[in-house]
Amino acid sequence: MNKKTIRCRSCGRQVSASARHCPRCGTVLKMPASGIFVLIFLAFIIIGFAIVIIFKL
Ligand SMILES: [Zn+2]
Repeated sequence: MNKKTIRCRSCGRQVSASARHCPRCGTVLKMPASGIFVLIFLAFIIIGFAIVIIFKL
């Protein structure tokens, strides 16, 4: 088993590399790349709807 750990940048605790939040202080340790792409995709959809609504009024 590969048990990689990373250090929490907020409290310094060693946390499992697969953990998204520090179990002690709750700091978000990393944003998955796929999550960023989903956010960008949603932003484009929202902007697209906004443009359609504005130009139809
Ligand atoms: Zn922490």
